[in-house]
Amino acid sequence: MDKIIQLEDLKPVKERFCMAGKKAIVTGAAGGIGRSTAAALAELGADVALVDVRTDQAEKYAEFIERKYKVHAAAVACDVTKEEEVNAMVEAVVKTFGTIDIVHSNAGAIGAGYDDGDIDFLSWRRLMAINLDGMFLVNQKVCQYLRQEKKGGAIVNTASISGHVINRTQGRHSVCYPAAKAGVLHLTKGMAADFCQYGIRINSVSPGNMLSGIHAGIPDAAMESMTGDCVMKRLGSMDEIGGVVAFLLSDLATYITGADVLVDGGYCIW
Ligand code: NAD
Repeated sequence: MDKIIQLEDLKPVKERFCMAGKKAIVTGAAGGIGRSTAAALAELGADVALVDVRTDQAEKYAEFIERKYKVHAAAVACDVTKEEEVNAMVEAVVKTFGTIDIVHSNAGAIGAGYDDGDIDFLSWRRLMAINLDGMFLVNQKVCQYLRQEKKGGAIVNTASISGHVINRTQGRHSVCYPAAKAGVLHLTKGMAADFCQYGIRINSVSPGNMLSGIHAGIPDAAMESMTGDCVMKRLGSMDEIGGVVAFLLSDLATYITGADVLVDGGYCIW
């Protein structure tokens, strides 16, 4: 049995939170949550690849992050639903940074008003592709790379409160998005169990209603019901998510895998 660590031998918490020298990928980094994580990881010293289909935005944020945090940041174009693009993205990051250590697999989208029980199959497939297939592809390609390199690593997937509960709304209710996000929770556990033997940790975060680009176009009444159903009676901010993802990706979380962290202001208490 390992011996119990004495107080004088405890590793410094600040040191284990440090990301200096680490190479990171954040997908969906042109969006609110992704760019917040990219900034958090950069502040802790990591070089960051900002991956998105919206490359112009990603480039703008990469330039800002480089300037502010004095690390390397690069925008990489990739549609995470396309296997060949995910392969090319992983290769491009390795070429640019030399390796990969940590990944926030975060790209996702909600349906534009048509995600209810009458959703047509094509729309279902499109939403599933973005929210679940893309997560799988990024997880698998990164894990295969880390295994081939015989190095450990850590991944955090963005799930959602919608993976835990069906959001209460007036009228119709989403069907595909929650099904996909529930899938992300179990994808995380399955991949965590399977790739643990290669020193890879995989966890998820489940944001509640965080004020970000994803809410563009949602009617005011729906936004009000989101805050009303939350124990804290407010939306989350982009300041309240990046640090949680960074913690799970850091060496402070070396005994955490297959877990989900709700960042939801208590939404799922009820
Ligand atoms: P956002 O719309 O600001 O960002 C999402 C980003 O993903 C966008 O930049 C978009 O271009 C990118 N993206 C979409 N499809 C892509 C694809 N196929 N390939 C590559 N990039 C793609 O939204 P956000 O709030 O930052 O969302 C980030 C993640 O958080 C998503 O997975 C979302 O489902 C999840 N989430 C958000 C909330 C919230 O309230 N904001 C709550 C729960 C979960």
